[in-house]
Amino acid sequence: MSDYCGTEHPTAAEASAQGAPAGPPFAECVLCQKPTEYAESHKGITLCPVCEWREAERTACSG
Ligand SMILES: [Zn+2]
Repeated sequence: MSDYCGTEHPTAAEASAQGAPAGPPFAECVLCQKPTEYAESHKGITLCPVCEWREAERTACSG
């Protein structure tokens, strides 16, 4: 599948240049800028597993 249309994907280019594991470009965590499990095309806020867990706890405790 070579569906690469030439749009800008600096993250993917950098990742492959650094020998990162193959896969879709992942969005950065909005809180700590670590890679998340969400693709860059993911809508809305993207959080890494750690921040997501913390947010879930905060939400659960803020009632
Ligand atoms: Zn995070």
